[in-house]
Amino acid sequence: MQVPLLDLKRQWQSLREDVLAAITEVADAQACILGPYVKSFETEVAAYSGVPHAIGCASGTDAILLALRALGVADGEEVVTTPYTFFATAGATVNARGRPVFVDIDPVSFNIDPAQIEDVVTERTRVLMPVHLYGQCADMDPIVAIAERHGLGVVEDAAQALGAEDNGRRAGSMGDIGTFSFYPSKNLGGLGDGGMMATTRADLAERLTGLRTHGGMKRYYHQEVGFNSRLDALQAAALSVKLRHLDAWTEGRQQNAAFYDAAFADVDGLTTPAVGAGKRHIYNQYVLRADRRDELRAYLGEHGVGSGIYYPLSLHEQTCFLDLGYKQGQFPESERAARETLSIPVNPDLRDDERAYVVETIRAFYGA
Ligand SMILES: *Cc1c(COP(=O)(O)O)cnc(C)c1O
Repeated sequence: MQVPLLDLKRQWQSLREDVLAAITEVADAQACILGPYVKSFETEVAAYSGVPHAIGCASGTDAILLALRALGVADGEEVVTTPYTFFATAGATVNARGRPVFVDIDPVSFNIDPAQIEDVVTERTRVLMPVHLYGQCADMDPIVAIAERHGLGVVEDAAQALGAEDNGRRAGSMGDIGTFSFYPSKNLGGLGDGGMMATTRADLAERLTGLRTHGGMKRYYHQEVGFNSRLDALQAAALSVKLRHLDAWTEGRQQNAAFYDAAFADVDGLTTPAVGAGKRHIYNQYVLRADRRDELRAYLGEHGVGSGIYYPLSLHEQTCFLDLGYKQGQFPESERAARETLSIPVNPDLRDDERAYVVETIRAFYGA
């Protein structure tokens, strides 16, 4: 049996008619840049996330870039974040003229450890940027409290967490700005790149709206130098169709996760993902901590089971960030996670026989 980590064609087959109809409507109207289709999808995402404002942009990476610029990051000011995340979190920080400052992760949640944040806050710190990794929110209460104490902005990198919750509050609604990605492998994925910025603050919504169109609120008049970073109307129309299915897909992911949790509970050598108190985990990834991880991954590959490593190298060890001056060993939990984590198929299109085969294959590897 072959079980891919993610097979986007299955979801596409079930939505093909509806999505093609929506895209055709945009093309027929020739309403290609911003306009009513983008606006209505923005309204839907805002409602879904429990915020008054959501502004589409070209990608999740750009959403971070614009968010940091809107909060005034400049001149190498410091943005405190995790070294255990997708590259874009820190890459966009540098492109926003900020400097990433890393804080190690909590080994249970894989998210930034709030207890270590205050140690790195300096005069030059401007923003705290937790990442809701794998679809589970970071502990936002202590993070927001630290930000308030020091007068800092908070950006939630919620690229993997649309619809995740921390004590009843949705991802992206707890800081100043939350950023989402519609990259095809996210829980709500487009037919290409797309992103969104959510905020409760009207002033930031206005600034973000300007930044995505060259820094001008009025056409041809510019308050600042911004970007050309818009969500395509074609993507917005397709994503509106898909958003209606998101809660059912999340339920499917949660059911697969519960199935794995039970099936691996007695396997020596495996740790299943923990869901923190008050969290709604949406499982963009289902991530095991595994003894002999690389051997397991090779074994799964030989037996037709797809898997992924998110992420194999911590950001402080990336060549392009060596000039930040961090040393190997400085973020031991992040480095250990990079050696031990393995993502297995959890998408809602997974069939029962497929997930049973995933379990059987992994149990066989450990002789369980
Ligand atoms: C996917 C992702 C991004 C970037 O999103 P793009 O839409 O691919 O630019 C940023 N941060 C995290 C944590 C992500 O998973």
